[in-house]
Amino acid sequence: MLLADLRGDVARYAKKMVASHLVRAAQGNLSARDAASGLICITPSGMDYDLITAEDIVVLDRDGSVAEGKHRPSVETPLHTLLYRRRRDVHCVMHTHSLYATAFGVVYQPLPIVLAESALCLGGSVPIAPYQVSGTVEFAELIAETLGDGNAVIWGNHGAMVVGTSLATAYSAAHALEDGAQVYALARQLGTPVPLPPDEVEKLHAFWRDHYTK
Ligand SMILES: [Zn+2]
Repeated sequence: MLLADLRGDVARYAKKMVASHLVRAAQGNLSARDAASGLICITPSGMDYDLITAEDIVVLDRDGSVAEGKHRPSVETPLHTLLYRRRRDVHCVMHTHSLYATAFGVVYQPLPIVLAESALCLGGSVPIAPYQVSGTVEFAELIAETLGDGNAVIWGNHGAMVVGTSLATAYSAAHALEDGAQVYALARQLGTPVPLPPDEVEKLHAFWRDHYTK
């Protein structure tokens, strides 16, 4: 089986996404790029992650054509392949429906960085992309443009997406995003949240980049 180890890792992290409430059942999608070959391992369309195995993960070439796999790849394949072409530093793309981050995309309010953990993984406030039907090349362009060189973007009226240098760093970023959104929402009920100063966010993010992503 082509890229058996990486496909196994993608299946394992897809299960972790469900277990840690980043998505439910078959929601969201996840991919990882093999650094040596450039091939992309992506979750199949519409399959319950609790049941997923390495063989269910689809292998794509850089243009999104299926190199090996028995299922249809995720409907968000155009977005995953576009991000890998645009961002050489990115080796994992994770789309979640985590509740508090999604709520920020319903009120169209960019998420400020209020936690040190979020500063480490995300490196700056998280932008909101305008609503558009997902799964198209146009949507992929919209998300790539809104993400820029950041690690996270919230999709208006839909969910969130993070990118990382590995499955582990993207998974950390997804939780840093959700935790930051949840704590911000709770803090708003207690008083006025105080964001971390931008220079402190940059310092923390630089430390994380140097120690955890290389
Ligand atoms: Zn979605």
